[in-house]
Amino acid sequence: MAEFELIALIRDRCAVAREDVRLGIGDDAALLAVPAGHLLAVSTDTLVAGVHFPIATHAADIGWKALAVNLSDLAAMGATPAWATLALTLPEADARWVEQFADGFAALAGEFKLALVGGDTTQGPLSITVTVHGFVPVDGALLRSGARVGDGIFVTGTPGDAAAGLRCLDRNAAAAELLSAPVGLREALTARLNRPVPRVAQGLALRGRATACIDVSDGLVADLGHICAASGVGAQLDADALPASSALLGLFDPATRRAFQLNGGDDYELCFTAPDQDAGALLGDLARSGCGATRIGRIVAERGDAAVQIRVTDSAGTSLPIARAGWEHFS
Ligand code: ADP
Ligand code: MG
Repeated sequence: MAEFELIALIRDRCAVAREDVRLGIGDDAALLAVPAGHLLAVSTDTLVAGVHFPIATHAADIGWKALAVNLSDLAAMGATPAWATLALTLPEADARWVEQFADGFAALAGEFKLALVGGDTTQGPLSITVTVHGFVPVDGALLRSGARVGDGIFVTGTPGDAAAGLRCLDRNAAAAELLSAPVGLREALTARLNRPVPRVAQGLALRGRATACIDVSDGLVADLGHICAASGVGAQLDADALPASSALLGLFDPATRRAFQLNGGDDYELCFTAPDQDAGALLGDLARSGCGATRIGRIVAERGDAAVQIRVTDSAGTSLPIARAGWEHFS
């Protein structure tokens, strides 16, 4: 199949009509109208086969996830998604694979009325780069830099599930006992790895209410560390307050579970800070939005020149070692 046929196939499967798309796929550039009073929020993320997803991942899951990880960044800014571009590098022109990929992408794009407005299609090792565009009211964006001493720290959903899902796919001996565990629990966790749900509605609910926000892609401690660095504060986390899914509780011992919750990547939950006096109403609104949040700690003063500004304790107040800094490329 030729390049232009692949593009037509993607275009047809991802068709979403939007009045603000003055010119979509087909010319040298898209022409797009940003609504008055808003800023354009733009974010790019690349998924590389074997690095960001196991080679055996289904094409539809890759399509979903390539968009989901990008929408998660818009969610963390409190932005409303509008448009995306897709740069696709494929080892071969496999029409079936591209159809399934596009169907996974379109399933999520349709949920947010997001229009695919352009991209690029090239040959090489499998790699997918999506750029998303969304709107925030001028001065309405959620930033990493607004956390204040005394704020509560919160996280949506149940962090740790995606890392647990990756462990469930691990065929090595250490994980062998997992293969005999109930398939429903394993599938609940692998679904969280392969089909993360970007917390867009929750990001919108946090606008004007959270003091800082980030999406958790590299692990809760690592990403909360970015809020601390940007805000010039420290954080005190209560490991026993971390919410756990029933699948995570059912399949892993407490120490492994805790490691996934604190350091596992790929969850795409939102970690945010807010004054505790506002938290009751905010948590109620989030629960009604379809994904609740849990208070997991508080913002404290920066600790001198400590390299890591985050202290983790259990509910008895005992300090726990912080395992590692989270995922980093080139390290
Ligand atoms: P050019 O040579 O001008 O870069 P291309 O042949 O790469 O044009 O692309 C033709 C049109 O198809 C453009 O509108 C481009 O944005 C779009 N396009 C190419 N690849 C993709 C893709 N993977 N997904 C969506 N749109 C694409
Ligand atoms: Mg091109």
